[in-house]
Amino acid sequence: MNEMSSAGSPELQANLAKLEGYLARFREDGVGHFINGARAEAAKRFDVASPIDNQPFCKADEGSADDIDQAAQAAAEAFAGWKATPGAERREILHAIADAVVANAEEIALLESFDTGQPLRFMQKAALRGAENFRFFADKAPEANNGLSTPSDSQINFTVRQPIGPVGVITPWNTPFMLSTWKVAPALAAGCTVVHKPAEWSPVTASRLVEIMHEAGLPAGVCNTVHGMGEVAGKALTEHPLIKAIAFVGESATGSAIMRQGSETLKRVHFELGGKNPVVVFADADLERALDAAVFMIYSLNGERCTSSSRVLIERSIYDEFSAKLAERAAKVRLGHPLDPATELGPLIHPRHLEKVTSYFEVAKSDGASIKTGGKMAAPAPSPGNYVEATLFGDANQSMRIANEEIFGPVLTAIPFEDEAEALHIANAVPYGLAGYVWTNDSARALRMAQNIDAGMIWVNSENVRHLPTPFGGMKASGIGRDGGDYSFDFYMETKNIALATGAHKVPKLGA
Ligand code: NAD
Repeated sequence: MNEMSSAGSPELQANLAKLEGYLARFREDGVGHFINGARAEAAKRFDVASPIDNQPFCKADEGSADDIDQAAQAAAEAFAGWKATPGAERREILHAIADAVVANAEEIALLESFDTGQPLRFMQKAALRGAENFRFFADKAPEANNGLSTPSDSQINFTVRQPIGPVGVITPWNTPFMLSTWKVAPALAAGCTVVHKPAEWSPVTASRLVEIMHEAGLPAGVCNTVHGMGEVAGKALTEHPLIKAIAFVGESATGSAIMRQGSETLKRVHFELGGKNPVVVFADADLERALDAAVFMIYSLNGERCTSSSRVLIERSIYDEFSAKLAERAAKVRLGHPLDPATELGPLIHPRHLEKVTSYFEVAKSDGASIKTGGKMAAPAPSPGNYVEATLFGDANQSMRIANEEIFGPVLTAIPFEDEAEALHIANAVPYGLAGYVWTNDSARALRMAQNIDAGMIWVNSENVRHLPTPFGGMKASGIGRDGGDYSFDFYMETKNIALATGAHKVPKLGA
């Protein structure tokens, strides 16, 4: 059974008191659309609940195709002005947004933690990472239009980059604030205007983000937020003719739907999708550090993390000892109220997601795997919400569903392997290819594994440490395209080649 963080700690009580202050306006006015620089009214609203108790605490606007149309019109009207705004000015505005995010970091972290169930200890950093995303892309804004010079004998060729136009951003519920900034910041730095459709299960901090951006000086219409259901508001956004591209983070199946929906209007798409990421532990690794990293990468952020190490592949000679240590550590992960700073594992986002995650406990048994720890709801739970124990499945093999399907919870599947060839085979035997983690002190082997694992990102002897200039994204069912550094601008911008003749090269004379 997982350890509990203490139910009534003074820090938790203090955080709950502060949270009430920040929540009051949402309880009263709800979570609203923000279109053309102002709150917009919606005809319908839906209930927003916290995973801490699944009780509705406010209403949110439920966007219709008409609401999306208004937002797309606003983004289209604002586009010419924002595109023409000098890069240096865009940089200043994005830095002002970063400053404002930092100034509001406590509010964002508390609201995010309450709305998603993610432990506050991680959400504090997520708010600050959101600010960092704005700062990083702010500094890139002045040179976003810079291209490449490719001269030929008769012509000077050079490319310029131009923002593609108004873009749609669709984000998931797991770390909504940080992920929203990860898409919106490069789009704005590139000179695009935005219509954002946040996830319906955790809409609160996205509505703070758009307000903060405007308070910091973003012109009206440059970023517009419409809340609501994916199948209605999200779909309308992907089909809207004024929207030139869709940056989407979410499930692979939703990515397929978006591709179909956007095909009529030839949308450019950028997809960050699911994962079933391996952490491969060889016997010669620094096993203490490998253990820390494997535990961190699956049980942090409630396991609701696309880059989580949801499969641990362990060399047979250390399998028993290493998996026993994993089980011991997993059992000690502190489960509790997400606003308690001591909590390491909070409640899962929604009863429907809870049902999905817990269904794998039966799947594991019928697959023939063992449950080394966890495998049940937390009892006693810190509150009536969606709490499950940190879970480790053992003695699994790659043919099992628990080794192939994205569970997206605090659930790790341990699989033994005999040698490097088998480790590589298992690592690649899934439909996904987002991230891979390799632990070994043999540098040649580390390089071979890093080159041959089919994933967009590999970390050797490390957990996931983000560095913003590097490309972020996945292969196979994990995504299309890369974000980060200049890669983001490849998506949000069009590259145009301009050729100038340097002399009187021969022009064919037809009809002469
Ligand atoms: P989801 O696909 O259910 O929803 C994501 C967003 O898409 C939501 O805003 C939703 O309303 C919208 N949506 C749903 N159907 C739509 C449609 N037909 N048209 C347009 N929009 C639609 O995903 P989720 O459950 O919110 O998030 C969890 C998933 O996100 C996991 O698979 C996880 O791996 C993935 N994820 C990936 C990354 C990454 O960087 N690769 C990061 C975080 C999360």
